[in-house]
Amino acid sequence: MHADTETLRLHRAVLAWYAAHARELPWREPSAGPWAVMVSEFMLQQTPVKRVLPMYEAWMERWPTPADLAAAPSGEAVRAWGRLGYPRRALRLHAAATAVTEQHGGKVPVDHAALLALPGVGEYTAAAVASFAHRQRHAVLDTNVRRVFARLVDGREYPPTATTAAERRTATELLPDDPETAAVWAVAVMELGALVCTARAPDCGGCPVARECAWRAAGYPAHDGPARKGQTYAGTDRQARGKLLAVLREAHEAVPQSALDAVWGDSVQRGRALDGLVADGLVEPVAPGVYRLPG
Ligand code: SF4
Repeated sequence: MHADTETLRLHRAVLAWYAAHARELPWREPSAGPWAVMVSEFMLQQTPVKRVLPMYEAWMERWPTPADLAAAPSGEAVRAWGRLGYPRRALRLHAAATAVTEQHGGKVPVDHAALLALPGVGEYTAAAVASFAHRQRHAVLDTNVRRVFARLVDGREYPPTATTAAERRTATELLPDDPETAAVWAVAVMELGALVCTARAPDCGGCPVARECAWRAAGYPAHDGPARKGQTYAGTDRQARGKLLAVLREAHEAVPQSALDAVWGDSVQRGRALDGLVADGLVEPVAPGVYRLPG
């Protein structure tokens, strides 16, 4: 697609803003490499940058290549995941590292389809690694990018619940033609959503595309779609799972049921959470009433 004048103006404004305001993050360093990008993307999917940074540094120091991680038991990956949350991501990253090691000679694939074929790598992660690490031209749609486009292009406060074909079309149409510029654009729009066009308090005064923004031009109409997911955590099965897993992470050996009972009072919910952890492969029963992280 040949970009029209308005699209070119958007590109120039966002790229100039990014050049001046981008955060310095270790996975964005020129020396970072595809494995670093892949690890960071797994961690960043559901966890904010601030919490990811220390875990990421420790992870890369311990497992600087996919082969290093693949050689470790998957339970060690779960342990090192610490309190990042959604620990199934640790197992998926371990599985992806194993596939990279066994099927790709230890090198993170360059080809988008090969990335997508790795276990635990979905459309978003494949596009992110192909774009950020391999400097290819891909629409990279995370929640930040989707929110920016919803406001800027569609004049809506929030994007639909799940990514739609129309959103993919918009993102693809707005991609700069040149792959290197497209790769910078992808991360720049993401950064704009993270720092300026935030979910709750967009800083339109500091926004490089405020004049082009459809939502702003329309007078900021309120969200009229389905209610957005709340952030409730206390008392949920997810919190119970987190508590149980923390006991196993910190124990460094198999633990008896009584150690798990001590951290979550509701036995029905505790049982359900433990069953879920076992079913997900995050916890291994080694004997009746004795559990550990997977070996
Ligand atoms: S003007 Fe405001 S709402 Fe529109 S893209 Fe910029 S920060 Fe977001």
